[in-house]
Amino acid sequence: MQIQSNIKKIQDEICAAAQKSGRNASGVTLIAVSKRKPAEMIQQAIDAGHRDFGENYIQEAMEKIDLLGRESATWHFIGHLQSNKAKFAVKYFDLIHTVDTVKLAKEINRQAEKIGKIQEILLQVNIARETTKSGAQESEIMDIANQVCQFDNLHVSGLMCMPPFFDDPEEARIYFKRLKQISKDIEALNLPHTDMTHLSMGMSNDFTVAVEEGATLVRVGTAIFGARP
Ligand SMILES: *Cc1c(COP(=O)(O)O)cnc(C)c1O
Repeated sequence: MQIQSNIKKIQDEICAAAQKSGRNASGVTLIAVSKRKPAEMIQQAIDAGHRDFGENYIQEAMEKIDLLGRESATWHFIGHLQSNKAKFAVKYFDLIHTVDTVKLAKEINRQAEKIGKIQEILLQVNIARETTKSGAQESEIMDIANQVCQFDNLHVSGLMCMPPFFDDPEEARIYFKRLKQISKDIEALNLPHTDMTHLSMGMSNDFTVAVEEGATLVRVGTAIFGARP
């Protein structure tokens, strides 16, 4: 019941933020981030009609997805991905949000080709240039987009970022604006296998600001499932 009402509350806040900025809320998908939460909690959300889930750790995700069923939900990989785990990410996930090097893209492409899949991916940008975070630097993102679009078994459908945590979410706004501008710059290149449909940005603390700035995918964990252990 709690999970269901949390999701409802967040959906309402997404609607309000979309309206405020003249957007249609149907253009925003809420991804329930279930990392370090048990499969039973995901099942509760599925039973309540929720469809999209985000996971960060391959091993943990595979165990839960095997339990719940690969087709029972749309699975988003939002954690840091090592090339040697690309095979599993391709097998289990509908959208990989965290591609930040050509090397990783190349390996995902290779694994996708093996199983005859076109893998949907996002390019992750380290938007505030934090040394502790993954993501490509803004200075290299155009070059990466130009190379990744050459891979036949990848489809690039947008960008992802994770700004620093601020007590006041307004402080994240400039970073969301910046990601949107980079997205427009890439769109203008008209690259093959690429369309800038998605901006994956906004978490529990700042998703309303992200929606105001154009987020199409918001990734919310704590506000749905509670604090993580
Ligand atoms: C954990 C995580 C989230 C969710 O964070 P909350 O603050 O719990 O909403 C979103 N995105 C990424 C990449 C994460 O790792």
